[in-house]
Amino acid sequence: MASPGLSYVPNHTNSPWQMYLLQVDRVAPHLGHLERWVETLKRCKRVLAVDIPINRDDGTVAHFEGFRAQHNLSRGPGKGGVRFHPDVTIDEVMALAGWMTVKNAALNLPYGGAKGGIRVDPKTLTRPELERLTRRYTSEIGLIIGPDKDIPAPDVNTNDQIMAWMMDTYSMNTGATATGVVTGKPIALGGSLGRKEATGRGVYIAARETARAMGFDITGARIVVQGFGNVGGIAAKLFKAAGAVVVGLQDASGSVANEGGIDVDAALDFVAGGGALVDFKGVSKITEGEFWALKSDIFVPAALENQLTETRARAISTKLVVEGANGPTTPAADDILHDRGIKVVPDVIANAGGVTVSYFEWVQDFSSFFWSEAEINDRLERIMVEALKAVVHTAEKHNVSLRTAAFIIACTRVLAARELRGLYP
Ligand code: GLU
Repeated sequence: MASPGLSYVPNHTNSPWQMYLLQVDRVAPHLGHLERWVETLKRCKRVLAVDIPINRDDGTVAHFEGFRAQHNLSRGPGKGGVRFHPDVTIDEVMALAGWMTVKNAALNLPYGGAKGGIRVDPKTLTRPELERLTRRYTSEIGLIIGPDKDIPAPDVNTNDQIMAWMMDTYSMNTGATATGVVTGKPIALGGSLGRKEATGRGVYIAARETARAMGFDITGARIVVQGFGNVGGIAAKLFKAAGAVVVGLQDASGSVANEGGIDVDAALDFVAGGGALVDFKGVSKITEGEFWALKSDIFVPAALENQLTETRARAISTKLVVEGANGPTTPAADDILHDRGIKVVPDVIANAGGVTVSYFEWVQDFSSFFWSEAEINDRLERIMVEALKAVVHTAEKHNVSLRTAAFIIACTRVLAARELRGLYP
């Protein structure tokens, strides 16, 4: 087991933190003299666990567990989202923070890596309860966040309204409006044009570029997407707009398929109107097993961690996996995909469009000068294409997977900064 034995992290095989550690182990032999610092990456600099008591609408008090992990701050302030999900654990938040360190460094954004979460099913809360939960959580982690310390953003089940409440709570506590304390805010509060679509757009760019390098075109390509939220939904829409055929989709309501191509825009409207994806007309409901075996050119896991398991890696019928989610593929599944000749564009590159436009938002807030959407999409495109090229080049040079290549680039940057800063005291 790759765990350095942190007493507060359980030792479950395939827990997100264990998965992250195994990925770090794979990069270690490629770090040259910086390998002596690799243990830095196997620990979080700081992890805060907080109790979040709130008044329920019925007059009772409920307690929730919340976390904020700052994995590494060597290259700049912490950056990473906050998720509200019943499966959130300290282990998961630490792994997600570690992946943010790698993602931000792979894209050369001037940030360290952080992540937060509350163990809650937000669907069980009313809107006023959700607001109280968000505000109390923000107050509790207010000790360690700030525009130049650590900047949260949306993630699973969090959105621009939650960012607005977080921004307001932090600002009220510090006595000055601090738009730069979170990104992914509403446009009216210093949010950036293009931020909402940025993760899905980045997934699309990563898929298009890699497909081209593999010798096939996105036009006419068969696409399967797991997850139909802000990442999977937007990516599916962009694939369809580019002439690809989206043949399968899955969300929490179930799996659907249409050999002739799903009308993604109509499906998005249907779901936005409160419908369940499985009830959408023009698709047939399929089983989970059938979903993973659908024949495609590109498969996009854009839901949660640990989805592409060994069994599914054997069943999947695709040429290219583009990870919209964080940590969707287990290391054992990674090896199976590699042996089967299926390329994987890793999460730390494929879904980096979101944090890249978060960076643009933060810069715009600081300079109080806002860019056009065309400018933002243009810069995003350039940064993603360049990062991908560097990863492909490094993979060829070291004869490793795209994931290990992305880790080589990122970890070299992080540990070079770490070495230059030296140890204090
Ligand atoms: N939650 C997103 C991610 O996993 C975005 C983080 C951010 O914008 O800071 O990359």
